[in-house]
Amino acid sequence: MVDIILDNIKKSFGSVQAVRGVSLKVYDGEYLTLLGPSGCGKTTTLRIIAGLEKADSGEIYFGDKKIDFNVPPEERNIGMVFQHFEIFPFLDVWDNVSYSCKVRGVNKDEIEERVSKYIHLVNLDKYVDKFPFELTAPQLQRIGIARALATGAKILLLDEPLGALDQRYRDEFRVEMRKLVKKLNITAIHVTHDQDEAMMISDRIAVMRKGSILQVGTPGDLYIKPNAIFVANFIGESNFVEGEVKSIDKYTQIKLHGGGPIIFSKNKHFYKRDRVIGSIRKEFVKIKEFIEENKLKDNNLIEGNINNIAFLGSHLRVNIELENGDIIEAKVTYPPSIQFEVGSKVYIKLHPENVLLFPYPEDLDYELALE
Ligand code: ATP
Repeated sequence: MVDIILDNIKKSFGSVQAVRGVSLKVYDGEYLTLLGPSGCGKTTTLRIIAGLEKADSGEIYFGDKKIDFNVPPEERNIGMVFQHFEIFPFLDVWDNVSYSCKVRGVNKDEIEERVSKYIHLVNLDKYVDKFPFELTAPQLQRIGIARALATGAKILLLDEPLGALDQRYRDEFRVEMRKLVKKLNITAIHVTHDQDEAMMISDRIAVMRKGSILQVGTPGDLYIKPNAIFVANFIGESNFVEGEVKSIDKYTQIKLHGGGPIIFSKNKHFYKRDRVIGSIRKEFVKIKEFIEENKLKDNNLIEGNINNIAFLGSHLRVNIELENGDIIEAKVTYPPSIQFEVGSKVYIKLHPENVLLFPYPEDLDYELALE
């Protein structure tokens, strides 16, 4: 069993509280990602697990075993992959990969077996005799992964491992990384600030901000049920509107600020007159043509004017200005079912289950900042 448990881990660098009481359980065989903006404490958390950094307080367990903070990385049975890891330019692929086993004193036969196994698993068989200068960036990164795995580690720690790769290689590599971890049945903790990467690669994601974990969940959980404005904003793309709860029956009715329209939400954890923020994913904003009779049939339509249209190939971004001046952006799959024109009047249809409500925060700008 190699569940990894972090219990109230704290770490400061002088006056900077890099990690502020992080508790997390990563299950045996799980691919978990620490996701958050730059400086939120992801790398420090990973380095504490690795033994490259000592926590100020808290506890770490690998399975049932409590890990003393003084245990060095090489005695923790972990493999590590970094964005910029050390490749020895004068060693070929085989020697670069076998290096980690040699320094750990693994015997010769075992090294042969492990190195050939992992070189094969990362698709470098054809390149065993090549030197780093003869290889591409993705191939060099494969060396790093094979080297980390060849240690025989059951835990793999990855810090922005794909950060140095071109976008076109990244998607492919993400899929491969996940397959590899699953095939080997190891536990992986991956650090990234890239939400697409986290969504593609992870069983679960821990969203971090300012040294704390805000939410841990599957990619689907975080997308459908974000527990904070920051998470709703960081994962995917959302519109945020401000309003006040007018009534609660089948749905919660929210009157948008500044004389705006009423919108409906399925979220019922609020009271009349509560000030709230509504969060609506851009792809859930449906645009309907402006036809007078619509008004009579459906009271969940909001009037607005298209004030910008951007074409992005797979989809359009259509901005609609409401009567109170709020702009709602819709992501519309291309080709759209209706023709949009700047200046034209339209309706927006929002399904109540797609309008998430959050209490109005003390500092909205802070909650909406992506840092
Ligand atoms: P990034 O993606 O930019 O690496 P991160 O989320 O991984 O960010 P950390 O690298 O863990 O964040 O840093 C968290 C905070 O701790 C930052 O404010 C950073 O400047 C600070 N910090 C990290 N390491 C040190 C250090 N060795 N000395 C001083 N401050 C540090």
